[in-house]
Amino acid sequence: MLREFIRNERIAYFSMEIALQNDIPTYSGGLGVLAGDTLRSAADLQMPMVAVTLVSRLGYFHQHIDEEGGQSESADTWAPEKYAHPLPAKVAVVIDGRDVWVSGWLYVLESYLGGRQPVLLLDTDLDENRADDRQITDRLYGGDAAYRLKQEIVLGVGGARLLHALDFHVRQYHLNEGHSALLTLELLRRHAYPADGLRPGDSPYDIPAVRELCNFTTHTPVEAGQDRFPYELVHRLLDDFVDNDTLMLLAGREELNMTRLAMNMSDYVNGVAKRHAEVSRRMFPGYHVRAITNGVHPHSWTSIPFRKLFDAHLPGWCHEPEQLLRADCCIPKKELWQTHMEAKQELVRLVEERCHVSLDVDVPILGFARRMTAYKRPDLLFYDIERLRAIARKQPFQIVLAGKAHPRDEQGKQLIRQLYGYIRQLSDDIRVVFIPGYNMETGLKLVSGSDIWLNTPLKPFEASGTSGMKAAFNGVPNLSVLDGWWVEGCIEGVTGWAIGESCDDGESCDVANGNDAAALYRKLEEVVLPLYRDNRDGWISVMQGAICKNASLFNSHRMMRRYAADAYIR
Ligand SMILES: *Cc1c(COP(=O)(O)O)cnc(C)c1O
Repeated sequence: MLREFIRNERIAYFSMEIALQNDIPTYSGGLGVLAGDTLRSAADLQMPMVAVTLVSRLGYFHQHIDEEGGQSESADTWAPEKYAHPLPAKVAVVIDGRDVWVSGWLYVLESYLGGRQPVLLLDTDLDENRADDRQITDRLYGGDAAYRLKQEIVLGVGGARLLHALDFHVRQYHLNEGHSALLTLELLRRHAYPADGLRPGDSPYDIPAVRELCNFTTHTPVEAGQDRFPYELVHRLLDDFVDNDTLMLLAGREELNMTRLAMNMSDYVNGVAKRHAEVSRRMFPGYHVRAITNGVHPHSWTSIPFRKLFDAHLPGWCHEPEQLLRADCCIPKKELWQTHMEAKQELVRLVEERCHVSLDVDVPILGFARRMTAYKRPDLLFYDIERLRAIARKQPFQIVLAGKAHPRDEQGKQLIRQLYGYIRQLSDDIRVVFIPGYNMETGLKLVSGSDIWLNTPLKPFEASGTSGMKAAFNGVPNLSVLDGWWVEGCIEGVTGWAIGESCDDGESCDVANGNDAAALYRKLEEVVLPLYRDNRDGWISVMQGAICKNASLFNSHRMMRRYAADAYIR
């Protein structure tokens, strides 16, 4: 099974989470979906990669929501043996002074175009390990700082060693976010100079040689979001893995900052949108941070009705999404609209099933689904309930919401409770529903079945955002704050609409929520809803704009060709 993958050189892609398929819960949100789309595109394009992640046997979590909007969680257990093959090797890493054995599973990600990519799912649930060590790879983003650091040791150090033990030929490493940055320390150890040739002040490691091997993609536009560990914990768990002076030089004096370590150890560093790269450069002066804007996987994020439509009019679009540039001329408007209505029916059915509410297919649906966390501001639309109600009285619309809050994000959980409160308050005037259990499957139904895809993050916290790109593949225009990818994607009135102003310098430009809410209401009331109601032809032109000018560009094929040309081949 492995043999076909160890013949040639590969790019080793490390990510704490990867969304492999809907029923494998090894992801929490956008980062994992991006990692999955990265591999799906690499498979379609036959780019040789090997992915390394944790098996996360208990998944992220299964979301339950009570009548009041209170979220509770249960394990989302899955059985790796049903989907993957046991790996024929195991390696040891030292954690807290003892050997922890790491093996895992080979999952083969198959492209519907025939490409195959190996994914190693690291697992410490082995007889050799102590009971608590067997749980290190159980819960994605679960546990305390010590648990997280152990996971990151397994991912970075264990992953690198397992690749070696399995005979993979790694051409370059790609660190998707800082969680796997300890990998660079393992590489430093492999590139240590013989101690007897060193003079005082010499680095004991060939740092440039390691930097040449590493690429780092950062996803965090704020210091507070970076993965950091106190050195006291690091010294206890990691031993003297590399010499302390080198570690502090590369990862920070005060605490071990994974982002800083990854930045220092990678010759190629990029942010996930142009705006995000600007923000990152400001956060890390002196570093050369480039931009490769995220994209989504064409086949995975296009609903079945739209796949059929594109297949009929733009054959080859799945391998060459640039074909979608022609969608405005090649797809009759009437067919585009009918196809959208099919996708919308699907969403209406889902809402009936899950929420026991009947939506009206003739009334526009505003869709909003994201991780429920403060900066995403899922409550912004409800900032002024009376105003919202007044708009709906003149021009009716419906709202579909979904999203999970991290189990320890109390603010995020409070937001879901607030949303349930708004649903109740508005029940006589606006149909608003919340679909529990946001995942890849409901995600696709949401982005394809809505009429308008809403996005209201606090600037500049949205590094890229990807759900809006998925909407574009289904002809659903975005109505979004100008942050992340939308700074590049928005052509006002052509691909969708902006909420408020852009702030060109990328400086911290968060305006008061009230301003953004007012801008949102104004745009909805004066531009978006009237166009939908009074000018269907004009509306369909915007749907075409989303496909032609957004989907043709913001896809993971373009993204991977960029990574190949700019980062991997150098
Ligand atoms: C696409 C996706 C996300 C990311 O969406 P954003 O717009 O970046 O917030 C999160 N979760 C799921 C299940 C997704 O499919």
